[in-house]
Amino acid sequence: MVVISSVSAKHILDSRGEKTIFVSVKTNAGTFSASAPNGKSTGKYEVSPYKNSLEKDIETLKKFKDYFSDEALDNFDDLRRIEDIVEGHVGANSLFALESAILKAIAKEKKKEVWQLINPDAKNFPRLVGNCVEGGKHSKGVNGKKPDFQEFLFVPKTKTVKEAFDLNKKLREKVGVEIKKIDENFKGGNTDEKGWTTSLNEKEVFEILKNEGTPFGTDVAASSFFKRKKYHYQNPMLDRTKDEQSFYMSSLVKNFNLFYMEDPFEEEDFASFTALLKKYPNTLIVGDDLTVTNIKRLEKAIEMKSINAIIVKPNQNGSLIQVKSICELAKKKNIKIVFSHRSGETEENILADLAFGFQADFFKCGITGKERESKIKRLIEIEKKLRQK
Ligand code: PEP
Ligand code: MG
Repeated sequence: MVVISSVSAKHILDSRGEKTIFVSVKTNAGTFSASAPNGKSTGKYEVSPYKNSLEKDIETLKKFKDYFSDEALDNFDDLRRIEDIVEGHVGANSLFALESAILKAIAKEKKKEVWQLINPDAKNFPRLVGNCVEGGKHSKGVNGKKPDFQEFLFVPKTKTVKEAFDLNKKLREKVGVEIKKIDENFKGGNTDEKGWTTSLNEKEVFEILKNEGTPFGTDVAASSFFKRKKYHYQNPMLDRTKDEQSFYMSSLVKNFNLFYMEDPFEEEDFASFTALLKKYPNTLIVGDDLTVTNIKRLEKAIEMKSINAIIVKPNQNGSLIQVKSICELAKKKNIKIVFSHRSGETEENILADLAFGFQADFFKCGITGKERESKIKRLIEIEKKLRQK
């Protein structure tokens, strides 16, 4: 049993240099810490990261210490009792970091790994989804130009996570060389998730990716350029109506044989997702801003047959108990689960344990940079340990 004697919290800086929360819990099993990431292309329906502000959440967590110390915590579902205490008092980032630190304490006390608290029989590893080129809100672009879509992603199918990691790194380098050949403005990679920065548009990027012979796709993050009923493209400059966007998304899936397409439409438009999925049931049509790791939004997407895959970003919700319900429902309805990092990350690696514990189908976590690699390396470590058994 774990008993918390005190909770402390402070801010640290994420990979973008923005403040995020870092929580430590002092327990009979030792002191354990965890931090939360920050999104930039956030969905309208995400839970707010902090109730009022990061500073106020820090104070609130400290104040609740006596309530926490009344609880003896022994398993994953005991997080519910922590949620009963803090519900409505802190935001999603604070709750996620607190629960993550507590899970680490319970795991240590029980001489287990965090993923074993979720599913001791977990055995299937998720496929990596690696961000290779960035545009949209994640890129500053070059000379005012960038792709309108936010992410261009490789999804290798390999026997091991380690092989997928190595392949993604190789593919990223090759794509960099190819972009340089045709993008006279190419200056390397300084985007949020360490994908390449480019002035090419989405079709030009797809042309490069398709030559690599590895399944690939995109996060359109369409809400980020949808305003006043139109999709406002900048590269080239062109507005698309809802119908024109549907037509364009279909043509891209077909012409480039896309394996993965996230948020092709703005976050209110479940019906356009439905039509696209009906036409292309073999492509992963993924909800992120659409579903925001929220069970009500997932239920609606299931009812409308809008998606066959869902992004799970634990800090879009905060409650790991709700993350569990979402994963259970998705599994029951045959919706693929994609655990995902955020664009502003820390070196926190618990995402790997959560993804493996919940038996996610995919793990979207960039390709390079210490904040991304720490998570993939943790997944590889779990893989190695299981193989040795
Ligand atoms: C995404 O949209 O999938 C993403 C990782 O971006 P952000 O963290 O900025 O929401
Ligand atoms: Mg997304």
